[in-house]
Amino acid sequence: MSALAQQHNAINLSQGFPDFHIDERLSAALGAAATEGFNQYAPMPGLPLLRQAIAANFRQRYGLEIDADNEITITPGATYAIYTAFTAVLTAGDEAIVLEPAYDSYIPNIDMNGAKAVRVPLTSPGFSVDWQRVKDAITPRTRAIIINTPHNPTGAIWSKEDWDQLADVVRDTNIVILADEVYEQLVFDGERHYSVLEHPELRARSFALYSFGKVYNNTGWKMGYAIAPPAMTQAFRRIHQFLSFTVNTPAQYALASHLANATEPIHALMQRKRDHFLALLADTPFEVYAPAKGSYFQVASYRNISDMPDMEFAQWLTKEYGVATIPISAFYSDGKDDRLVRFCFAKKEETLNEAIERLKRIKVA
Ligand code: PMP
Repeated sequence: MSALAQQHNAINLSQGFPDFHIDERLSAALGAAATEGFNQYAPMPGLPLLRQAIAANFRQRYGLEIDADNEITITPGATYAIYTAFTAVLTAGDEAIVLEPAYDSYIPNIDMNGAKAVRVPLTSPGFSVDWQRVKDAITPRTRAIIINTPHNPTGAIWSKEDWDQLADVVRDTNIVILADEVYEQLVFDGERHYSVLEHPELRARSFALYSFGKVYNNTGWKMGYAIAPPAMTQAFRRIHQFLSFTVNTPAQYALASHLANATEPIHALMQRKRDHFLALLADTPFEVYAPAKGSYFQVASYRNISDMPDMEFAQWLTKEYGVATIPISAFYSDGKDDRLVRFCFAKKEETLNEAIERLKRIKVA
């Protein structure tokens, strides 16, 4: 969709990345690290300075104690961390449960390990989990389940009760949890993110996976980290050692110093954008489908405009009205189509305003 957007000079609300500048202190810190000579390989698990800064940050934000030496590994982005965690856990013939719609790397990552993805749909319209269906999906071969909260593409978030339900489901199994929490700092309306790390029983069997790109608006840096108990971290590092071995050194220095700075919480900025976008979207023929509680995505129905399949609709909208979105069927491996599209609202106000002006021109039959 991004390529099509470029081709048609469309406003790109499809791919999930901000179109505004990052904090100048962060870009300055990156330049300074390179200039000061921090340009050689960092230690395999990541710079101790950065791992300690992450541990301090989790202590401050969640009141959690995380062992910087034995539980945190710096990675080149969360996508890499997800792959590495799956690879540490899965062997050929295993099964891994994926709740759909889902971020598009999960199922290919499971396939690449010779394992089988077992798909469980989230229920409409709130995209919540049907626990009976999760229970029914478990077999003696189930080795992993991947969770994503706040959720891409739907903006749904998990409550503490969801984690309790998951604990009940996995209690007498050897299922490992991959908790994709890349949008942990993007939760709105005074609600809060519950991390798997806050659930002691689950934490003991979980990889929690994070991305700096979603916190500091620098998705192109591809920096993230994995948190897991020491034995699981060891297994993770055994894979990491022979994949990338180590991660961009100046970026690690820059992030370590930036983490120590008190910066405006990102959720406040992103909530302003969401509220602005939703207010404007009300003047278009789109209907909000389950308002985003987190992430930087809003799902909308176009049933007032057309009954085209969503892929066709997204292409038509890009070509005819110059606004690119993502069809939700792209997040289902079987292409399930509920006639919904995803907007990314992590954009400058003028980008959002211009996109809405274009959407307002849509003629409704
Ligand atoms: N998980 C989810 C749910 C995402 O939406 C994204 C980014 N689109 C990632 C992981 C990837 O993060 P990174 O860019 O750090 O690989």
